[in-house]
Amino acid sequence: MVLRSDTSFIVGVRSLLQKKVDEIPVELTGTRSDIEIPFSRIIESESITVRGILNLAASGVMFNGNIKSSWVGTCRRCLEMAKGIINVQAREIYIENPDPESEYPLSGDQVDLGLAVHDLLLLELPLAPVCTDSCKGLCPTCGANLNETSCNCMEPKDLRWSALDILRDEI
Ligand SMILES: [Zn+2]
Ligand SMILES: [Zn+2]
Repeated sequence: MVLRSDTSFIVGVRSLLQKKVDEIPVELTGTRSDIEIPFSRIIESESITVRGILNLAASGVMFNGNIKSSWVGTCRRCLEMAKGIINVQAREIYIENPDPESEYPLSGDQVDLGLAVHDLLLLELPLAPVCTDSCKGLCPTCGANLNETSCNCMEPKDLRWSALDILRDEI
């Protein structure tokens, strides 16, 4: 799969590779529209923030920092909008011949932190988002949103049980 990448996360690291500097501080913002799973996605119109430091690693360049972004999705209980913030630590290696399972490519004297942004945010997106932890969801019988209204579906329909209720109240 070819990843479409926003150029705003590309960083030149020539000064680091030539050992003219010890580290390169990183503070970038950009957007991506390709980070999505079935019930949640990274908001394509809001900025993703990448902060950290690039250092020389044994065989390439190491990024140490964090990635912060907003997500939006569909509440799995009530089907209304759910949203939240992801703030994930990143510790990623960029080298010339990367192991695609665990490393990223060092292309000439550039690293594309957008590749790590994509992968790390994708992993952090909630599989089963909820609008609030206390969301009451929908009534399984009539479909009413129980956060906004109540319904009578859960009331005992058989009057014979009412006698038991009275009895229970008296105990
Ligand atoms: Zn909900
Ligand atoms: Zn109901």
